[in-house]
Amino acid sequence: TVRTRIAPSPTGDPHVGTAYIALFNMVFAKQHGGQFLLRIEDTDQTRSTGESEQAILDSLRWLGLDWDEGPDVGGPHGPYRQSERMDIYAGYCQELIDKGHAFYCFASSEELDEMRKEQMANGQTPRYDGRGLLLSDDEVKAKLAAGEPYVVRMKIPAEGACVFNDMLRGEISIDYAQVDMQVLLKADGMPTYHLANVVDDHLMQITHVMRGEEWINSAPKHILLYQYFGWDVPVLCHLPLLRNPDKSKLSKRKNPTSINFYQRMGYLPEAVLNYLARMGWSMPNEEEKFSLAQMQENFDIHKVSLGGPVFDVEKLDWLNGRWIREDLSEDQLAGRIATWALNEDYLKAILPLVGSRLEKLSDIGPLTQMFFMGLPAIEPEQFVFKKLSEDQVKQILQFVAWRLDAVRDWNKDALYNELNTLAEQMELKLRDLMQPLFIALSGQTTTPPLFDAMAVLGADLTRARVRHAVN
Ligand code: ATP
Ligand code: GLU
Repeated sequence: TVRTRIAPSPTGDPHVGTAYIALFNMVFAKQHGGQFLLRIEDTDQTRSTGESEQAILDSLRWLGLDWDEGPDVGGPHGPYRQSERMDIYAGYCQELIDKGHAFYCFASSEELDEMRKEQMANGQTPRYDGRGLLLSDDEVKAKLAAGEPYVVRMKIPAEGACVFNDMLRGEISIDYAQVDMQVLLKADGMPTYHLANVVDDHLMQITHVMRGEEWINSAPKHILLYQYFGWDVPVLCHLPLLRNPDKSKLSKRKNPTSINFYQRMGYLPEAVLNYLARMGWSMPNEEEKFSLAQMQENFDIHKVSLGGPVFDVEKLDWLNGRWIREDLSEDQLAGRIATWALNEDYLKAILPLVGSRLEKLSDIGPLTQMFFMGLPAIEPEQFVFKKLSEDQVKQILQFVAWRLDAVRDWNKDALYNELNTLAEQMELKLRDLMQPLFIALSGQTTTPPLFDAMAVLGADLTRARVRHAVN
């Protein structure tokens, strides 16, 4: 049976690219009566967080994606979180060493820096030169016994090429000369993505690996690992990456990439999923609006085009409008809007910010409108200030955008500290820095207390509004 997976690393916001790859994997599996599973690749312990993992699961579920096995639903091949499988990887790494397919390297990072410097001075491309392979068994034993720190690297054939078949791209050939002796086990005993990914895809009986094209160059390493272990290589399929309208790789600087942003803006999950389905694929009748069930019925992986699908928010707006008009009754629409933001919980979060300014209930509209809209329309003259030049305003907003990206725990105090520090560094009064920010976030000069408002608005809408104002 067909088994596919999505394997996100929980190192940031839930990415629309993850949802897109997940969708194609899920539809392909279901269409073949198979299973789709979700595995969390959190071996990078410094960057992975539990919050990010939860946000990824929540947003994929919000979109209506569903997995048969995963960290939250369990399954026969668990655990589905790599950080809980460390012993497994260590065992397999040892197997590779014992079979002579992997080797210890004791070189310090200073030593490797030195090596790269020399290579560059000689006009060579810097790369690991295989020095670990020169150690005799006895030397290795002595170093291990002495407790010297080490990494484990995989061997790569000295010559020839890795030739493999990609489901969409046909035959691909990559010279081994271009493949580095990848670290498999890091000095802290953690496996790298490559080792953990191959071991898990095998143990979880994945038949089709469908992932972003950024992994094509890793395929030779993975294929070698399968061969070293004596395992079947799954079918490989590298999907085209999402692009900005200017054809560069989708980036949050040009397009919001967090699924949470689309949820907070009030897009329907059906419409977002429909839009993602159209990334590189279209219905046989070219109809642009279709449901997940219709996609499943008609999907043909071989018809995915490699052209680099453009993620264009204006197109999504149009499609979302159609879903609202054509598929929701008034009752349903009212329900959706209530779930989105017109609900008691959200109002209760907002009220403390305006409470004392409320004279009539009807004041709530003008006082809180920033909480019920997407990206405010701003007139250029709104960004004219007595104390700030036009350039300064741009600069402030650009710096604020960058700083906000770095805020991990999104709360009032953290936001205050971050922007207060920025103001000091820019030699500005915090108040002066806040003026353009008020406008960027609300389109108005008076808003509820800024830092509280940012906390309630949430990271996604806040960041998107600041970026929108810069662009
Ligand atoms: P970076 O600037 O480091 O490349 P990023 O925006 O690509 O950052 P990542 O955290 O690297 O974000 O990626 C998160 C997930 O989203 C990964 O699984 C990645 O494969 C996927 N992803 C990122 N960009 C795209 C894209 N343009 N198309 C499809 N998937 C993407
Ligand atoms: N953890 C990898 C990622 O987030 C998975 C890539 C793959 O599917 O092999 O992109």
